[in-house]
Amino acid sequence: MLVNGDESEPGTCKDHLIFLHDPHAVIEGTIIAGLAIGARLGFIYLRGEYRYLLEIMEKAIADAYARGFLGKKIFGYGTEFQIITQTGAGAYEVGEESALMESLEGKRGIPRIKPPFPAVVGLYGGPTVINNAETIAAVPHVIAMGGAAFAAVGSPRNGGTRLFSISGHVERPGVYELPMGYNLKKMIYEVAGGVRGGRGLKAVVPGGSSTPVLLPEEIDIGMDFDQVGKAGSMLGSAGVVVIDDQTCIVEFALRTISFYQHESCGWCIPCREGTDWLKKSLTRFHAGFGERKDIDNIQYLAENMLGRTFCPLGDAAAMPILGFVKKFRKEFEEHLNGKACPFTKHVEIALV
Ligand code: SF4
Repeated sequence: MLVNGDESEPGTCKDHLIFLHDPHAVIEGTIIAGLAIGARLGFIYLRGEYRYLLEIMEKAIADAYARGFLGKKIFGYGTEFQIITQTGAGAYEVGEESALMESLEGKRGIPRIKPPFPAVVGLYGGPTVINNAETIAAVPHVIAMGGAAFAAVGSPRNGGTRLFSISGHVERPGVYELPMGYNLKKMIYEVAGGVRGGRGLKAVVPGGSSTPVLLPEEIDIGMDFDQVGKAGSMLGSAGVVVIDDQTCIVEFALRTISFYQHESCGWCIPCREGTDWLKKSLTRFHAGFGERKDIDNIQYLAENMLGRTFCPLGDAAAMPILGFVKKFRKEFEEHLNGKACPFTKHVEIALV
């Protein structure tokens, strides 16, 4: 039983709060899920930057051993379950399940060829079930409430609650546990206090940096997989990034692709070359040296990465760029013909 705590999606910061404040929920969920599938061994993998949480997790695991929740004979009975913790070295790519297994085994964190899938041949060659830390931490609550009652908290086909990380230009950024299907507009204006400084809203990234952007007129939707999908984006990791009307979208696109270019493991060409070319094109474009045809080229590059990469990182890099070009083409055009970025205070950042 493997717990994915390699939370790395920009805009998402929920798992670390669970490890920090309720490590026992992850441990309890791991034990229940592990025993349910007949496993005897669980691994909790924390992202490299969360090394400071390792001490907390290990103390909580030691407490669980001391109280008989873990061990060779749980509560003196014949059932065995043990938990091992491991940190990565800080790579977004390792959030992919098979890359995480490679990393945990001490190898370079790149994805494995599938099939075989992890449920057949996973960690150390054994059958492995892997789930996100937030999912695992919900298991004790599902058991305590009962499946039907837990599901009834959310919207139809999207049961339960979700931890929404709200960041960007809002008055009260933070991580909020809300029912699935909670209205996005209400989430921004009521829960998170609205756009910072009373400014206008320009755009919202609804599910972490890899999800396509939504316009202000598109945010009156419930935050669940079905409704966000219908609006043309994805719920993803539920990392809501709010962008105010003083932000340059071309620079936002550049920052986004810079992250993915840096994190690409370089194994497959469309991702390795595509993210690099997109970053180069957007850097030049934002600096005012772009041509009209570059807008189509950026779109063409991103389209040719979609569905052609070995793991989902390629799509994660291409999808937001396509969204920015499609919905903010006019703003891209405003950077043409040597014109400085209309949001000049940001130019020097993009040129670095
Ligand atoms: Fe590596 Fe990117 Fe290919 Fe994934 S899509 S295997 S991160 S190069």
